[in-house]
Amino acid sequence: MQTLKSSAASNVDPDELAKFSNLAHHWWDKTSEFAPLHAINPLRLAWINSLANLSGKRVLDIGCGGGILTDAMARKGATVLGVDLATKSLKVAQLHALEAQTPNVSYREISAEDLAREQPASFDVVTCMEMLEHVPDPQSIVAACASLVKPGGWVFFSTLNRNGRSFLHAIVGAEYVLGMLPRGTHEYVKFITPSELATFGRKVGLEIQATRGLEHNPLTKRYKLSDDTRVNYLLATQKVNN
Ligand code: SAH
Repeated sequence: MQTLKSSAASNVDPDELAKFSNLAHHWWDKTSEFAPLHAINPLRLAWINSLANLSGKRVLDIGCGGGILTDAMARKGATVLGVDLATKSLKVAQLHALEAQTPNVSYREISAEDLAREQPASFDVVTCMEMLEHVPDPQSIVAACASLVKPGGWVFFSTLNRNGRSFLHAIVGAEYVLGMLPRGTHEYVKFITPSELATFGRKVGLEIQATRGLEHNPLTKRYKLSDDTRVNYLLATQKVNN
């Protein structure tokens, strides 16, 4: 069994948190750096909901940022806790929930590992989207997700694949050619292949149930879920009963 990092500080990159905190006031601006997350949100929400039926569920969103997915899951009838380590992003998320009167959503500044020690086997559904590629030890986050979810519960991940195409699309294209993301948003070496992520999951009792790719058409600027996992992909896993 993978052991959890002993403290929050050991599995966090302060530069990564600063990147997001500095942009925190833009989280809910759909034309900002966060436009891609707003654009993919209905797609990932529908996919998660089709597998895990969010209504009435207790849900945890790890690395929630400004709460784009957190908020949407609460609106599907779940009771959702969003956690992150970027203070400013959490404030923006809280303020948005207040202004939008989102029901049953709350936010906390705590690491996944610390929450796993505090509340093991407590959530029906755990989501960890577009976050693993920003942490020093993604395997420790996957282990924390496995501890946090109830037996039989669902854990969803999304991240960037690591290959020539993802380098071209996610870094050269998105950051340099199209200017969709600020330069330096992503580091190629931190990208994770689906088989690496599957191995992290299997080690801690998370069985893969489904995989989808996220495809972006730069001409229409639209996204769709597809079988092409070469760039951005989502993985649905379930915690084995034991
Ligand atoms: N999951 C959200 C936001 C993705 S952006 C979405 O998909 O809409 C990545 C987020 O991961 C940022 O909010 C950043 O602050 C957070 N993050 C980075 N390192 C983290 C860590 N070690 N623990 C918790 N959150 C972290």
